[in-house]
Amino acid sequence: MNTYGKLPVAFESGDGCWLYDTDGNKYFDTFMGVAVSGLGYSNVNVNKAIKDQCSRLIHCSNVFHSVPQQKLADKLCTIANMDSAFFCNSGAEANEAAIKIARKYGSDKNIANPCILALEGGFHGRTLATLSASSNPKVRQGFAPLSDAFIHIAANTITATSDALATHPNTVAILIECIQGEGGLTVLEDQYLKDLRALCDEHQILLIVDEIQTGNGRSGKYFAYQHAGIEPDIVTSAKGLGNGFPIGVCLAKGLAASTLTPGSHGSTFGGNPLACATALAVVNEIEEKHLSKRADELGRYILSTLQEALQGAEYIQDIRGKGLMIGIEMTDPCFALVPLAKEKGILLNVTSDKVIRLLPALTISDEEVEFLIDAVIQIIRLYAADDRAKPRA
Ligand code: PLP
Repeated sequence: MNTYGKLPVAFESGDGCWLYDTDGNKYFDTFMGVAVSGLGYSNVNVNKAIKDQCSRLIHCSNVFHSVPQQKLADKLCTIANMDSAFFCNSGAEANEAAIKIARKYGSDKNIANPCILALEGGFHGRTLATLSASSNPKVRQGFAPLSDAFIHIAANTITATSDALATHPNTVAILIECIQGEGGLTVLEDQYLKDLRALCDEHQILLIVDEIQTGNGRSGKYFAYQHAGIEPDIVTSAKGLGNGFPIGVCLAKGLAASTLTPGSHGSTFGGNPLACATALAVVNEIEEKHLSKRADELGRYILSTLQEALQGAEYIQDIRGKGLMIGIEMTDPCFALVPLAKEKGILLNVTSDKVIRLLPALTISDEEVEFLIDAVIQIIRLYAADDRAKPRA
């Protein structure tokens, strides 16, 4: 179905930050499958884990234990300081699990019509519940009736949260992204995150952190909430967890970890041996190569270099981000930048109409960092000088 507005190019292989099309042209990818292939294309250790596990066991039912699944659950629970893991196949599915836990948590406390607070600018997926949790009218339009059990409140203003909690005593959870990926790279402030945690404790409700885009080292910590030193009750992860192999996970702590019981949730493929062996190789690689720290250092360097070169230009609204999640907000919608960059061999992504979103591989080399910065600056300047920069109706 025509759901993506695809660019006229077909890729057949990839290596590190580079993709190769069917005509033999090479392209530098600045957004890696939208924050998926954090370890680069054709990562040797991940590919080896896939091949090894394929020759042993691809799938078995979740009514049995599997060694890769147990090992991955232990590893992720240790990193996030969580108590239990539910595996699935995508980000939306991980958030669905989180939403179901929150509803069941409310139902176990006899709260009628439990509602969840979510943030304006937040994006949590395309299934009906996660779409209801997402705030962007563009992705919601045409899919009514959506669930009205999600209340959207302003980000980075704690009074908006306390006011909403006073108005909606049936609230069971708050759902956030620490850096709003689809929402234009809005970074939630550390103090705001701490205040949210305190409010959740005070009201005995769950703090759910969607780390689907920010997780797996991309923000400069393994999970972005770790910058603020807080601990959520539920963490969801996907995208970079499999480096391209589909896997999602919902991690939970305390009461939230034991809310779901046999028969209350499930997924046929979720966390099968192949997916878990792959993700285990990904997590090990992120840890062994200290890629979160590298994302932190490179992110600071790229951000400050771009700010120095571009901040103050008439066509730039703001340049912001954390780790290897950087947004360059233009003053006007700038989708026309995408084909222009492609002509120059650069794959660029634009989100929220006017934010260029840079999500390079965590394994990007120092030389490639310089290449990325130069290419982005040149393309933006070219675009700004070009007729195509004019906003379109
Ligand atoms: N949550 C966030 C923060 C995302 O960025 C996305 C996808 O972009 C999702 C959830 C949905 O993930 P998926 O497309 O794997 O269902």
